[in-house]
Amino acid sequence: MNMIEEILVEILGHLRTFITNPMFLVPTVWVSFACVISWFILAAKKHQPISKKEVDMLWKSHKQFSQCKAKSYEEILRGNKIIGYRCQCGYEHRQKRPIINFGV
Ligand SMILES: [Zn+2]
Repeated sequence: MNMIEEILVEILGHLRTFITNPMFLVPTVWVSFACVISWFILAAKKHQPISKKEVDMLWKSHKQFSQCKAKSYEEILRGNKIIGYRCQCGYEHRQKRPIINFGV
């Protein structure tokens, strides 16, 4: 056996250990699964047009929760639809709706 064959056999041995070892395999599967799920959720999110009243409500609740003292906000528009707001304090909210509804 020459050097290259020896190295190849060693690499294949490690690969086999890696592939067949559940200690390695299980977290790998879970990580890939988590990646696919989060990609799916992120990709499913898209901007959701909201009404002027809803923007106002969202902004007021932001002011309350963040104890924000801003006097006004700007609407974030996409086309002629409101998709969120930009508060004077710098806070931005864009309405996103995942296809999978968790009941939030
Ligand atoms: Zn604010």
